[in-house]
Amino acid sequence: MNSFNSVFQAELAAINFAAGWALERNVKIKVFSDSKSSIEAIRSPKVKSNFVLSVKDNLYNAKDLVSLVWVKAHAGNPGNELADHFSKIASSCGADMSIPAPYSYIKRVCKKFLMNDWNSYWKNSTTGKRTKEILPSTNLNLMISNKYVIYLLTNHGPFPAYLCRFKILNNPDCLCGEHGDVDHYLTSCMHTKYYHLLLPTGSARTHWTRKLCKNYLFLNRLKSIFEISRKVCDDLQRL
Ligand SMILES: [Zn+2]
Repeated sequence: MNSFNSVFQAELAAINFAAGWALERNVKIKVFSDSKSSIEAIRSPKVKSNFVLSVKDNLYNAKDLVSLVWVKAHAGNPGNELADHFSKIASSCGADMSIPAPYSYIKRVCKKFLMNDWNSYWKNSTTGKRTKEILPSTNLNLMISNKYVIYLLTNHGPFPAYLCRFKILNNPDCLCGEHGDVDHYLTSCMHTKYYHLLLPTGSARTHWTRKLCKNYLFLNRLKSIFEISRKVCDDLQRL
């Protein structure tokens, strides 16, 4: 067995071996197993794993010869204790056996690989400075689709400072005269004063963003702030 094989697979391999043994000798046997998951997998009609399907096939061929019984583990049953003892020995010095890795293992490895890849891409990228300051590492729980959170994280949105970069506005300043970037509308602009936020700094800001970016009330507040900043931009454009 390889390190990626699960105890569940080992139990199934043992049941499979016993079925093959009975079939070869044409003898009736009763297998006592403490692995509920193996027995359930064998009984389940929904199994997709080729390994489990092949065990099911073998058991089907030996159906009159092999019966499966569940016994409670570590309940002082001498046969079960002995099997446990041998399985421990086999796990360190048993014969090699080739069982394909379980689907869950492949999924975990792929996810880890993709996350590492995404993380190093994120850490090495030279763009997205503001977003990187707030969210220094990648996180699957932060797959954000709310545009207001994206405004907050990127400083890209209906703000004079941003629109000025694209020559949509001639001046980066707000109607109130201050520099019109996202933090201005979040914390200090007189036009958004009913909704102002206290922005934490450093790692506290990362925690704050992660906690709030799925909070309904917070998102509504962001929406109100950015609706005002959009109106300010519209007014500036008309000037
Ligand atoms: Zn302002």
